Amino acid sequence: MKTILNILFIALLSQSCAQNIKQSEEASNSFPDSLKIKKTDEEWKKILPKEVYDVTRKSGTECAGTDKFKNNKEKGIYHCYCCDLALFSSDHKFNSGTGWPSYFQVYDKRNIHIEIDSSLGMIREEVSCARCDAHLGHVFDDGPEPTGLRYCINSVALNFKKKNK
Ligand SMILES: [Zn+2]
Repeated sequence: MKTILNILFIALLSQSCAQNIKQSEEASNSFPDSLKIKKTDEEWKKILPKEVYDVTRKSGTECAGTDKFKNNKEKGIYHCYCCDLALFSSDHKFNSGTGWPSYFQVYDKRNIHIEIDSSLGMIREEVSCARCDAHLGHVFDDGPEPTGLRYCINSVALNFKKKNK
């Protein structure tokens, strides 16, 4: 009998936790819930290349200098690799010398979700895709004018689409 009570108590506790998390997510994110793309970890693992999965779903960081867009001078839009949402424009890309693609502005603020990340003993602002929650990178306040921001993004999290002339 005592065991059953314990199980019930734990079940109740975990349910209230789940509700709390959901409420805070909704409050901090303006992207419409009905338009979000939700997949399980297993589903993402099946459809994404390993390096993309590790960065976007496990908050990994690609090695500096492996930026696949390093020599990309084309005009166009950088989309989320996972869900194809437009995230950054070539008009806002700059050479930060860090080895990661860097932008001083996002394509559309609604498409980006920013959250405090206190991992690795640092306080950083984590940047993720507002539609599918893909981890993209971090934003720092040492970027160029006019925003003073530096969105430091993993290139594997992005897909480039050239602007049609
Ligand atoms: Zn996405």
